[in-house]
Amino acid sequence: LFAGQTDFLKGVVAMSGLPPSDRIEVCFAGRSNVGKSSLINALTGRKGLARASNTPGRTQEINFFTLADSHYLVDLPGYGYANAPLAVVEKWQKLLKQYLSGRQNLRRAFVLVDARHGIKAVDEEILSLLDSAAVTFQCVLTKADKVKGADRDAVLAQVRGALAKHPAAFPEIILTSSEKAEGIATLRATIATLI
Ligand code: GDP
Repeated sequence: LFAGQTDFLKGVVAMSGLPPSDRIEVCFAGRSNVGKSSLINALTGRKGLARASNTPGRTQEINFFTLADSHYLVDLPGYGYANAPLAVVEKWQKLLKQYLSGRQNLRRAFVLVDARHGIKAVDEEILSLLDSAAVTFQCVLTKADKVKGADRDAVLAQVRGALAKHPAAFPEIILTSSEKAEGIATLRATIATLI
């Protein structure tokens, strides 16, 4: 799946722009700066691929990538921007709700969480949205290279505790580092089993 080509398809700002749910897809969500672009680039082996989603003005788009010409990899807009105007937050919530409830071929959402911080209040909103939409989600810890030994165990325990409150949570947590290429093969293999 990841041996093939991954290409940017389109950025979507409104429900009307969503491509039909005619392919199996997985999506990625996470607080801004969590390392989502870096992880998507590491996963697909294409440096700079997910950079478009990070440029100002594109941050509120749902970005669709085609995976091996047969699947979609979907990059959801980052959340938790300090000082984001309420209107922007509300628009984000609306689009996200519409996306999550309307994708019959969405197999799983991967929610990225900084391994140094664990699941925070800012993440809870999307987790609740995923519960409501009954979209199974799996937590992926990013920047694991920054956390060692006992601190890793502590963050894993915190995340497990937080996930226990969410009916849509898949229990297994994946630790990754885009910088050290840790956990990337595991994440690829997990996605491959879904599709
Ligand atoms: P995004 O806003 O979620 O797309 O985050 P980016 O991928 O742009 O990464 C945000 C910052 O975290 C950048 O400075 C990256 O260099 C850094 N970063 C991303 N992944 C890793 C990682 O695996 N390890 C470390 N140490 N830093 C990372």
